[in-house]
Amino acid sequence: MYRYADIIIDIALSSLDRPFSYHIPDNLCGKVETGMRVIVPFGQGNTRKKGYVIALKETTDYDPSKVKDILEIAGDAVTMEEQQVELAAFIKKNFGGTMNQALKVVLPAKAQVKKLLFREVERTMNRDELISLKGEALRKHQNAKLKLLDALLEQETIPYEWITGKLGVSGPTITSLQKAGALKINSVTKYRNPVHLDEENEEKKHLSPAQQLIVNEVEKDIESENPGKYLIHGITGSGKTEVYMALVEKVIARGQQAIFLIPEIALTYQTLVRFFRRFGNRVSVMNSTLSPGEKYDQCMRAAKGEIDIVIGPRSALFVPFPNLGMIVMDEEHETSYKSEQTPKYHARVVAEELARMTGAALVLGSATPSLEAYSKAESGEYKLFELTERLTGGTLPNVSVVDLREELKSGNRSIFSRRLKSLIKDRIEKNEQVMLFLNRRGYSGFISCRACGEVIKCPHCDVSLSEHYGGKLMCHYCGYETKKPETCPKCGSKYIAGFKAGTEQIEQMLLKEFPGVKTLRMDADTTKTKDSYEKILSAFSNEEAQILVGTQMIVKGHDFPKVTLVGVIAADISLGSSDYRAAERTFQLLTQAVGRAGRGTIAGEAVIQTYQPDNYAIRFSACQDYKGFYEEERTYRKMLGYPPAAHMMAVQILGPDRDAALSLSERLAEAAKADVAAKLVPVLGPTPAAIGKIKDLYRFVIYIKAERYDILVQVKDILEQNLLASPPSREYIMFDFDPVNMI
Ligand code: ADP
Ligand code: ZN
Ligand code: ZN
Repeated sequence: MYRYADIIIDIALSSLDRPFSYHIPDNLCGKVETGMRVIVPFGQGNTRKKGYVIALKETTDYDPSKVKDILEIAGDAVTMEEQQVELAAFIKKNFGGTMNQALKVVLPAKAQVKKLLFREVERTMNRDELISLKGEALRKHQNAKLKLLDALLEQETIPYEWITGKLGVSGPTITSLQKAGALKINSVTKYRNPVHLDEENEEKKHLSPAQQLIVNEVEKDIESENPGKYLIHGITGSGKTEVYMALVEKVIARGQQAIFLIPEIALTYQTLVRFFRRFGNRVSVMNSTLSPGEKYDQCMRAAKGEIDIVIGPRSALFVPFPNLGMIVMDEEHETSYKSEQTPKYHARVVAEELARMTGAALVLGSATPSLEAYSKAESGEYKLFELTERLTGGTLPNVSVVDLREELKSGNRSIFSRRLKSLIKDRIEKNEQVMLFLNRRGYSGFISCRACGEVIKCPHCDVSLSEHYGGKLMCHYCGYETKKPETCPKCGSKYIAGFKAGTEQIEQMLLKEFPGVKTLRMDADTTKTKDSYEKILSAFSNEEAQILVGTQMIVKGHDFPKVTLVGVIAADISLGSSDYRAAERTFQLLTQAVGRAGRGTIAGEAVIQTYQPDNYAIRFSACQDYKGFYEEERTYRKMLGYPPAAHMMAVQILGPDRDAALSLSERLAEAAKADVAAKLVPVLGPTPAAIGKIKDLYRFVIYIKAERYDILVQVKDILEQNLLASPPSREYIMFDFDPVNMI
């Protein structure tokens, strides 16, 4: 029985790090819960103070005669900070981890505010001087300089990252214009409005009927004090951002504030600029690169009512607005919305809870909605809106699917099919650009037959087996093990192997096939250093290379109007990964990749190379049929009990000693089984994780599936109690609810 509680007094942030021990009196025994607000006597004078229970204990480390009693459980009035703490309690309860960890997620620490925040470029010449420099650049064919000069003619100050990012102009070009006296580089202390237009602000677009309908519907709900949850399904360029801005404007006009979530700042810089243009200095940015002090500063500005909108990745959810009216979540399907550190919360789930607590509307948007969001739209929990037309022109590319088995049959063992090869040749001759995309995810050892395309799968789980050291194949869901076959079990071919082609090999083969062609490569290796990502993109945008080879990094963000061909080297690589979300991820990536071709005026083409041309993820992405894909995928998830049809919890056990980690894993699996057996909830494992050892820590995983989320929470609580009762010496345990990546 818990008789003591660790309590954080009030909310004075500096005291967060020091919990105080209190005794739970008989009348409150069993009623005090973690995350609860209580009233306690504090200090010499025993003044009544509010506190937050962050942990329950059976004993106390202090002299029991000196530990004071909790007076009562606090009433219900919710202040702003209390709202944040409630959110922390929600996160702790639903995603695991300690209250301290959850509090750290929601409450920015007070710290020294660091000054420098970002750089901007300011023009230091008048128009005539700039125009004469432009003439010179034109004569010398200095494309990058021309672009920057044009931008400087348009606006006085420009954010540095925007120049190196969206504009695609490299640092040395900026420096050379600085030397010429055309500009200077300022360090700016605040993330203020980065765009200062000479004359006008972003003009409001006259909304299309489809856009207007969304705005009207959402506004109607808000006006009748009945804000709902909405999903906008619309391809890139269909006008979603314009709708978000119109909605946010309505919310601000009502005296409320809005949170605008984006997956990553770097990839969505243009969206930021549009918000700044439209809403000026009432916009702020929350960013993972901000120091704790800067984050704190942004939160204080929000609390004081100095800003109306905060834009940022998932941490922007925790900016404490006094009267939150709307949460927008753009590109809601992105996996970066799930935290990879304990507590592994999903921003969509927390956004739903925050919307419930505050009465704010929740607007999600995506070109390829997650199964989670779309199924909620189907069930009516979200209102669904569709935007089907591109407003900027540019047509969807012509997509062909190439069967690599046929290539092998005709004696072509190269990683380029004949069709892709001839199209690349054509683009090189026409001086247009090509993007070649290789999905490296799940590359680690899935085995397929190169003659018939058969992927070796687990007989119990319908996921592909992964190759392990010593010619063993394993299932990471159930632990099934088998020897790697010598020949294909379906057709008997001996061409059975893991697909081994990295971006580097592709680049080398391009040079062999097309001597002298200029290529750029973008993957985890070439983007290790700061800015390298932007540098590669701006080099490609400046046409310093004709072909960009890369991993999934290249399919997001920037538009390249000269790209008229996109090639997907082997679509199967992502399908083969031993992950129930493999098909969904493949569909999203292929749809995005295909969409990269033909953003300019010239029609584009895309080639998807695959061993499984009949696979539904490939078929539906080739014809850009989201609904078709959704229907099949949902059926598959239902049949096998994967999210969103059911919920799943992964318990990860890490430890330096293999046997100890394994026996702890077994103990936890037993504890889970003992509790859930009556409810017939499957407990799978323990099994070694996909990567069995990282940095000398052995990794095991247990998967538990249940239709009801609260059952998983119960199991988590039981496991936490089990661990508390007999704490492991050197092992860590992590919970992951509805994981987006398999462990
Ligand atoms: P998404 O967010 O779906 O990619 P955007 O809102 O960015 O779409 O719109 C794509 C492009 O179309 C942008 O350049 C935007 O300025 C333009 N646009 C959006 N709505 C309209 C409209 N109603 N009339 C004219 N242009 C529009
Ligand atoms: Zn075969
Ligand atoms: Zn299995």
